Amino acid sequence: MQNVTILGSTGSIGVSTLDVIARHPDRFAIYALTAHSKVEELARQCLQHRPQVAVVGTAEAASSLSKILKEQGSKTAVEYGRDALCAAASAAECHAVMAAIVGAAGLAPTLAAARAGKKVLLANKEALVMSGRLFMDAVAANGAVLMPIDSEHNAIFQCLPAHYDRRPDAHGVQKIILTASSGPFLRRAVESLNDVTPEEAVAHPKWVMGRKISVDSATMMNKGLEVIEAHWLFGAPADKIDVLIHPQSVVHSMVSYADGSVLAQMGNPDMRTPIAHALAFPERMASGVAPIDLPKIGQLVFEQPDFERFPCLRLAYDALKAGGSAPTILNAANEVAVQAFLDGRMGFRMIDRLIARVMDKLPHEAVDSIAAVMDKDAGARRLANESINELMPA
Ligand code: NAD
Ligand code: MG
Repeated sequence: MQNVTILGSTGSIGVSTLDVIARHPDRFAIYALTAHSKVEELARQCLQHRPQVAVVGTAEAASSLSKILKEQGSKTAVEYGRDALCAAASAAECHAVMAAIVGAAGLAPTLAAARAGKKVLLANKEALVMSGRLFMDAVAANGAVLMPIDSEHNAIFQCLPAHYDRRPDAHGVQKIILTASSGPFLRRAVESLNDVTPEEAVAHPKWVMGRKISVDSATMMNKGLEVIEAHWLFGAPADKIDVLIHPQSVVHSMVSYADGSVLAQMGNPDMRTPIAHALAFPERMASGVAPIDLPKIGQLVFEQPDFERFPCLRLAYDALKAGGSAPTILNAANEVAVQAFLDGRMGFRMIDRLIARVMDKLPHEAVDSIAAVMDKDAGARRLANESINELMPA
């Protein structure tokens, strides 16, 4: 029996994880569930899945949750705040942690899970992009097991040799090929992109996801963050990681080898597949996802990405090549830009311009501690917020 903590259980990944776990009550129990502010939804989840602990963002949210749970006779202990999140991720009773908080807020508890030597199921790519080598070092130093949940990275994991040790050349790996659906604006006239609304940007043609990652998919910053994520997970330099547009989202990614073989992982676009894979690994178990109907799909289409249409993809490659604090700055500026776009404070094309401005203005320095990462993150957020007004047309 494995006890699982789900960080961000009310989000899209969190809900899919609970769906998979509920199919296997003989194998998994929930140790802790966490949510930022959706108290009623978290209460429903607690009553159904009966975790030992539930964590929310604030004291007020905690007291509302406690009240609902007490009325229903629930024994779940309610806590709040960052330290409680880290405790839920590192408790001795918990074996595996699904890291599914969105953005930089997920770094501390995800790192706490790695430091406690847990099986870490990593959906929260921003945490790895921000802290790169420091995070991977924490995994290695504490014997944690890191399983990629991002569908592309989970696909690559499945296409790599079983004992892959993060040295592509030693295993004859020539390229890691990340596929990208490229979101809703693949064919839309570039001149009209600044006029798109938040609702158009989050309407992903293939995947149902949280709002932040949906906007990242529309700018292709999501793929950019995934290039950086792949670099850390698989030890591949930027020039060994390619991106291919594949609007159907059937092939989730590929690995190309020295002998000319290309291995691909395919499936319906449903996150329950990578979640079930990572939970059961090295075994396989049912996820609730139907097999793909290849005759119905008929043809698979691939094309090169257009870096003019999607400048964020180029910015992410640049940040990876620059190294040091550059990916931290990229991620922080992107989080501020996406939120400003979602709040209606600036247009869609301002996202890449704002990130480029912050990347240009801040020095890219070595970071040798998590405190230094948080400092770079805070500096980039400050500058991004200040720059919004400067960049807006009068
Ligand atoms: P979401 O917005 O649906 O859910 C986010 C979760 O994080 C919620 O439970 C929310 O309560 C919690 N949260 C938000 N802010 C928080 C804060 N400040 N402190 C504590 N908790 C907070 O997001 P999602 O789509 O589920 O994505 C989660 C992560 O997984 C992201 O990093 C995303 O990039 C990654 N991911 C998602 C998908 C997908 O299909 N949704 C696919 C690949 C990777
Ligand atoms: Mg992905």
